[in-house]
Amino acid sequence: MAFTIRLCPYCGGGISADGTSYYVCNECGKKTSRSRTNAKAFLLGKPYEAECSDIMTRMYADPKESLERISAMIESGEPNADFYFTRGIVLSVMGEDGKAFNDWKKGISCIEDLNNLDAYIMAISKQVMEIICTKEREFLAFKPIEYIDLLSTEFRLKSDVPCKGILYITIYRDFKMMMQSGNLDGDEDIYSSIIPKLLDKIIAYSRDFRTTVGIIEEILEDFHYNVETYAEDDNQWLHLCDMLKDAFLRLSDGFTEEQIVGVIRHWNDENMFELEYWADELMKSVSDKTILQALRRLSSSNSDNFDLDEAVEDYAKRFLLLIQKEPEPSE
Ligand SMILES: [Zn+2]
Repeated sequence: MAFTIRLCPYCGGGISADGTSYYVCNECGKKTSRSRTNAKAFLLGKPYEAECSDIMTRMYADPKESLERISAMIESGEPNADFYFTRGIVLSVMGEDGKAFNDWKKGISCIEDLNNLDAYIMAISKQVMEIICTKEREFLAFKPIEYIDLLSTEFRLKSDVPCKGILYITIYRDFKMMMQSGNLDGDEDIYSSIIPKLLDKIIAYSRDFRTTVGIIEEILEDFHYNVETYAEDDNQWLHLCDMLKDAFLRLSDGFTEEQIVGVIRHWNDENMFELEYWADELMKSVSDKTILQALRRLSSSNSDNFDLDEAVEDYAKRFLLLIQKEPEPSE
């Protein structure tokens, strides 16, 4: 399942397909991989590719040996992003998610070729997916969303481009591929508990609404959403996503390419924080109608029967920049 994009997820620039494996942005030069699941792409063509790749292959059978080998490489020379990334991956397999985070943070700070940023995002996404699965299987405390948010902040500080949306989308893709390949058999609970959390973040932080719509459609199908029976099926959150998808499609009908790029370029990880708050409230209001009153204060509407439909419509309009009014400060 290739990842289809129409614009660069980092800057919104036009892209060219280079061969079959990745797109190249005509503006910022960043490469975006089509597969999203190649965790070793950051090593491609490097003089130590074979060595690091071997360390990563053997880390499942003998993590201690892998850790010693990569630590020796780190100690023997100048700081190298790829070595820190590799060691972080080995540490994450050993269940050391805190130490892994520190190595990835160091690795991110020494990335030299920012056009290759996407390869590092893919490597971390795959590992974060594995950490989430391990922690869930072993009933260990772990806060996936906080962990991913902290990593995306490191990527943004280094690259100066929004990275949160693409990081969440990539982790979602990793889970989906894992599910499709049968590697989550017996762990369907992990899938059904993590996907709604990832989707909430994708809704708030994906800058291309067409990507959000595509992912919502996939998830509606995966979770057997039925517009007739969602209430009995306890699928209200899916109903909300379905409403949002319809609102995006309807309101953007007839958008020019320029408008779509304008929306992407308007949003970044900082101003989307406001969207996240709003999207959260929307989700909560599905089960608690009193929250709609709070949303009404954010809204531009003066309608007397402010309901969920209107709240969703308002959110979609705000996202698509069809409302420019600043919300009232919340109490
Ligand atoms: Zn770009």
